[in-house]
Amino acid sequence: MSIFERKESNVRSYSRAYPVMFNKAKGDFIYDEDGRAYIDFLAGAGSLNYGHNNPVLKKKALEYLSGDGLIMGLDMMTHAKRDFLETMEECLLRPRKMNYKVQFTGPTGTNAVEAALKLARKVKQRTNIVSFTNGFHGNTGGSLAATANTFFRGGMGTPLPNVSFMPYDGFLGDGEDTLPYIRKYLSNGHSGVDTPAAVLLETVQGEGGVNVAGKAWLQGLQAICRELDILLIIDDIQVGCGRTGRFFSFEEMGLSPDIVLLSKSLSGLGLPLAVALLKPELDEWLPGEHNGTFRGNSLAFVTAATALRHYWKDGAFSDEIQAKAEVLIGLLDGICERNSELGITRRGRGLIQGLDFGTGELSAQLKRACFKRGLIVENCGHDDEVIKFLPPLTVSLDNLSQGVAIVEECLEEITAEPVGAVPSPFGAME
Ligand code: PLP
Repeated sequence: MSIFERKESNVRSYSRAYPVMFNKAKGDFIYDEDGRAYIDFLAGAGSLNYGHNNPVLKKKALEYLSGDGLIMGLDMMTHAKRDFLETMEECLLRPRKMNYKVQFTGPTGTNAVEAALKLARKVKQRTNIVSFTNGFHGNTGGSLAATANTFFRGGMGTPLPNVSFMPYDGFLGDGEDTLPYIRKYLSNGHSGVDTPAAVLLETVQGEGGVNVAGKAWLQGLQAICRELDILLIIDDIQVGCGRTGRFFSFEEMGLSPDIVLLSKSLSGLGLPLAVALLKPELDEWLPGEHNGTFRGNSLAFVTAATALRHYWKDGAFSDEIQAKAEVLIGLLDGICERNSELGITRRGRGLIQGLDFGTGELSAQLKRACFKRGLIVENCGHDDEVIKFLPPLTVSLDNLSQGVAIVEECLEEITAEPVGAVPSPFGAME
């Protein structure tokens, strides 16, 4: 029995899905201890948008380490943090005419969600939050309460109160607009839904099945929020940092959220870093009122600032992502067309794409088969029925098409009819 089985908690999960010993990674690939390469279309669950051990980011991290730069800075002022804030202002906020203050919330995505929910409740003096069917926001008390997945919710062991779930775009079926329903529930004093402090929203639901909200729906939801004095929080933890093409997933949707949450690929090198961007008038925190030891991951500030300067100082990287997305969409649509009898559908935005197989059984088989052939992909959705494609945004076109080709080969293998009749050992009937 390995040390992992003997000593690591049963809660471990990815190590069960990809049961080999990994020890190296570079670019689009992760390698096991025997040197076998796997194309990585999971990319640290979206935290490696610039690939494994990105050389530009790693170089800066190594320089910072060898210069004895401060590693642990609590939330003190440091050169690393100043550079990060200045770069964020210069590369992200000012060019987009976005005016936000930056709250360092603690190292991981769920910390940003918790901070946002607390602040929204404090500012609006209301307890309720609206979240969405199939939404995923993390596994701590507040964020889990806003997460729809029953399996994760069951792990809490207490009720998960103060969140009302509304139907996401498309939840009631194609062509069914859920906005009138949401509007009625939020505006009618007798609906039984307390007026929320905020609406917490993913523009594309990453864990919930790569569900894409349409522009008109998003804009309609924002209008409802404005009209009813409800804050709009965009959780861009998975689909921000360039995943959908632009740095923020809501940029081309014409939204101006009150709070924006970023984590996962913000540091770029896979180091923990999370922020909540707050409209300045919402920054009602008292000094230290929300805290946490690890709010100043200086090494992550260094790599995050480097990533912003290197990839986001102009629109070139964004164009590159969109061009690759078109290639990926074409390849995946090809799979759907060639296997039309299976009724597979594709959906997504930019370089987050999903193939919906309708059943978790087939997608689970496919994920396992892909892994055996050297491709790491994850499934998601309420029944794990969707294979999610989350390649690094820096993925090469060769690796992109090779990865998709593996999926198609495995699909053919799994769904193939037995070839020809096997001759009976007893001979043919007379
Ligand atoms: N929000 C979204 C949209 C996510 O996809 C995730 C994680 O997958 C989280 C929040 C939670 O982030 P973390 O796992 O870093 O706590």
